[in-house]
Amino acid sequence: MARIPGFFRSIQAKILIIPILMLLAFVLLINTYFLTSSRNITFSSKRSFLQSHGFMISSALSALDELSGDRVRQAMSLLEVNDVNAVIITDDKGETLYSSEDGDTEASESLYTAYVDQVQGGNDVFYSRFSDGAFLSCSFTPIMSRGTVAGVVYLFENDTEQGSVLLKMYETLLQFSIAITLVAIAAMTIVSYRIMRRVNTVLDGIKNVREGAYTYRVPISGSDEISTLGQEFNRLTDRLQKTEEIRRRFVADASHELKTPLASIRLLSDSILQNENMDSETVREFVDDIAHESSRLARITEKLLTLTRLDNAVISEHKRVDVGGVVNTALRMLRPLAQERNITLNSAIAPDSVIAATEDDLYQIVFNLAENAIKYNVDGGRVDITSQVTSDQVILSVADTGVGVPDEDLPHIFDRFYRVDKARSREAGGTGLGLSIVKDTAALHGGEITAEHGEPGGMIFRVVFPREL
Ligand code: ADP
Repeated sequence: MARIPGFFRSIQAKILIIPILMLLAFVLLINTYFLTSSRNITFSSKRSFLQSHGFMISSALSALDELSGDRVRQAMSLLEVNDVNAVIITDDKGETLYSSEDGDTEASESLYTAYVDQVQGGNDVFYSRFSDGAFLSCSFTPIMSRGTVAGVVYLFENDTEQGSVLLKMYETLLQFSIAITLVAIAAMTIVSYRIMRRVNTVLDGIKNVREGAYTYRVPISGSDEISTLGQEFNRLTDRLQKTEEIRRRFVADASHELKTPLASIRLLSDSILQNENMDSETVREFVDDIAHESSRLARITEKLLTLTRLDNAVISEHKRVDVGGVVNTALRMLRPLAQERNITLNSAIAPDSVIAATEDDLYQIVFNLAENAIKYNVDGGRVDITSQVTSDQVILSVADTGVGVPDEDLPHIFDRFYRVDKARSREAGGTGLGLSIVKDTAALHGGEITAEHGEPGGMIFRVVFPREL
């Protein structure tokens, strides 16, 4: 019993979860990358902006012979320092010498303490961070005088404009990402659901047919792989249904064919048993009939066994068989039957008529066809067995001048138990299995049989075999 897999083990989960995880990871990566790289770009532009200003101021101030509050203020009034929120200038001890209007001396002093060592060592210091939607940046540039640090230029900028532009862009990107993710998840869910629904339709079909509903067909349209699967399954079911019908009919026909002679035997033996005064002549006649019916039973069972053997046949041996030799043997066996009915037997076998088969099987084919040609012939008729050879085929024909087969029966004569004229066949000892045996035996050796009307009447049976060189 096939178990319906849990969701996480299903194909749907596999086609859904993996792409969704990959998509989420991708979206996350893109967003983080965008945020960090645009922040870094802004940081470095801030650094060069602030530091160039710092250099400008520090070189102007280092030219002064004294670094005092007045001199610095004087110098600063001459310099144009725009776009910077605060400028603070301290001496080498951190004492504020100059502070622009919005300069926060406290903040400058605390920062100065944080970076004092580096600035004292004559290094530039730059610090920037992005928080609360704003870029906060500051730079310290030492003012060098005669090789020592005489003071520090401290520049501070709080850029909310660029910060909000970045935030806006980031928000838009995030919205797009969420929208794309949701649409993709919805699309993948719908697609995977549809795939699974169609797979389940095919699965239902398989279950139904397995349970014996051979008329069930998978209702599936389209032209993708699942449709092909459904169509192939329907074709398979067609074949299964046909085989099943053939099997049922065969079993029904076989039991019917076996039942008839058995019933006759029973009837005849009951009559003998119940009628004590039956004269010996009638008893003989009845026993003769019983013998006749039992040999019919034997013939049917023997032929059924042959057919079963052919159904499971694997070619065990394959020899070069000379068609001429086999035809002569079969004709020798059938001559008495032909003479009884005043029928002439002729044969014309082309030299080199050699096929790959077994003598017994070829004999079976020739004998059955020739026997039929005699059985269904008219008094004084003829039977011609001929063979023709092409570069790769041997065509064996058995033609007669008999009663022939009506058009409507022609497609069925190779079916098991099919008889055109039941009474005539029965009278001639037929079972309706001969031609099926011929067909299956020929097929076992690569041969194909056809039947057609003869000229002016009668039948022509042709078996085309691959030629053995
Ligand atoms: P059977 O044992 O009845 O001969 P076959 O399978 O050999 O069974 O043949 C099936 C039916 O085909 C026969 O019953 C007969 O009606 C018809 N048939 C076969 N061969 C010939 C033939 N040469 N001429 C006319 N009818 C034939």
